[in-house]
Amino acid sequence: MTDKRTDISTLGEFGLIDRISSGFTLRNTSSLRGIGDDAAVIDAGEEVMLLSTDMLVEGIHFDLSYTPLQHLGYKAVAANVSDIAAMNGKPEQIIVAMAVSNRFSVEAIDALFEGIRAACDEYKVDLVGGDTTASPAGLVINVSVLGRTKKGNEVYRSGAKDNDVLCVSGDLGGAYIGLQILEREKEVFLANPNMQPELDKHEYAVGRQLRPKARMDIIYELADLGVKPTSMIDVSDGLASELMHISKNSKAGVRIFEDKIPIDQDAFNTAVEFNLDPFTCALNGGEDYELLFTIHQADVEKLKNHSDIQMIGYIHADPTQNVLITKNGNVVPLKAQGWVHF
Ligand code: ADP
Ligand code: MG
Repeated sequence: MTDKRTDISTLGEFGLIDRISSGFTLRNTSSLRGIGDDAAVIDAGEEVMLLSTDMLVEGIHFDLSYTPLQHLGYKAVAANVSDIAAMNGKPEQIIVAMAVSNRFSVEAIDALFEGIRAACDEYKVDLVGGDTTASPAGLVINVSVLGRTKKGNEVYRSGAKDNDVLCVSGDLGGAYIGLQILEREKEVFLANPNMQPELDKHEYAVGRQLRPKARMDIIYELADLGVKPTSMIDVSDGLASELMHISKNSKAGVRIFEDKIPIDQDAFNTAVEFNLDPFTCALNGGEDYELLFTIHQADVEKLKNHSDIQMIGYIHADPTQNVLITKNGNVVPLKAQGWVHF
């Protein structure tokens, strides 16, 4: 140890993870894939186990002045299930660790676990353990998930090849737009507590923020259609950031078309109403928990008419060229902002 002190902000979240990961090598042959994908991949004979974790911290990831605890519990599980989906796996077990201050009542914890139970029911996973401890102030909830799939069926961020087609499920930007609505309503409410929040009008976007779904349905459908993506990641940090992960890990470039980016019409209108550019929300917003994946050209036909999958661009050979073709035909470099917590 030296006296040197470097601010974490100089590295950012991804730089920090790279720094941590460079200090470790995998020693067990069962550890097939460690840090760097949506879940770790562990050898289990004919199958692989998929292991991932995600932590939500009050004041950083959620604000309890507008986040119902049921929804928070649901979201904590869905975010983990989404990472197993992104590996093309099936989630089966979760463990839940939480730190909770005495500010919370038993009823509040009941509500949190009601949401966790709802997600367990929906995604057919079992709560099999966890840890409970006191916290000096806020609430911290950490969910870990174990999933599995047949060996060879797992999909990494690194498999995209020249000419593969980039696809995304559902629509993007909604969760970020929902967050902006909630934040602004909160300010209005704080300024005048007699004002009632106007959330009904923006139900779709607010729902996307508070209670996002993991797209296991897409994983099952792709399997039914006989399509195995060549690479995949879930959209938790924003489309641009996830595209850069695919590019970096696959050592290939991405080219996407702005006018192909799926945005819900209601969310679009809400963004405009709030003076936000809907495309910026879709590219950099995050927390949509949709799936971004690439497919072989040969599979395009099978997904072409899928109502909930949009083809947004292509993979090409040059990993230094990650570009967005705007509606006007301009070619602009993609920039990944991701989430800046530090
Ligand atoms: P995701 O958004 O899919 O949850 P993250 O961006 O959080 O993925 O993490 C990227 C990768 O870095 C994952 O493989 C994750 O397991 C790993 N990772 C993140 N934080 C740490 C940490 N503190 N120690 C070790 N690995 C980490
Ligand atoms: Mg992920």
